[in-house]
Formats: sequence, C-alpha cells, structure tokens
Amino acid sequence: MSEVMGLKAKLGLDVFKPGPDAHIKIRPGMEKDPRLKKAILLCPAGLYSENETGEVVLTIDGCLECGTCRLACGNEVLDWNYPDGGIGVQFRFG
Ligand code: SF4
Repeated sequence: MSEVMGLKAKLGLDVFKPGPDAHIKIRPGMEKDPRLKKAILLCPAGLYSENETGEVVLTIDGCLECGTCRLACGNEVLDWNYPDGGIGVQFRFG
C-alpha cells in the first residue's frame, strides 16, 4: 500500500526560480493595513508575517502564485503580478 504524502512534503517537491524583482509587493505605506492580516492566515506557503513593529512582511521565495493574497487583501494594498516567463514556481506534484 502506498504512503499518503502530506502537503508540506508535496510543496517541498516544487522548484522556485527567483527573478530580479518580487512579483508581489506590499504597496508602500500599506504595511500596517489590517487587510494584510488576512494574508498571514491564508497564504498556503506561509510567506506573510508580522514583524516586531506591527508591519506585515512578505518573503516572496516559495510563492505558489495561487492568488489567495490578492483576493483576500485587494489591489489597494498589494501590487500583484505574475512573474515573467521561466521565473517562479515549477510544480512537481500534479
Ligand atoms: S500568491 Fe499565494 S502563495 Fe503567493 S504570496 Fe499570495 S497567497 Fe502566498
């Protein structure tokens, strides 16, 4: 019988090719906007966090390009774009 693979193990198979610029950015001055708190809870890759000054910080490496943060937070607080071709996530499991 085959072993069931967990989400973290599946995500660990993906490959991420970084680009010169982050394809998603928190708009300047919006780092403490309460709408960003939703991204901390919802980002499946766990890329949003809150620092000691209460600002939300995004670490783009590992982004799955799922669009969850864009839908949850909106374009007023996020500058959201897909990365250029050949850059970003390469899914290796389905
Ligand atoms: S697009 Fe998805 S994986 Fe990437 S930062 Fe937003 S919620 Fe996280």
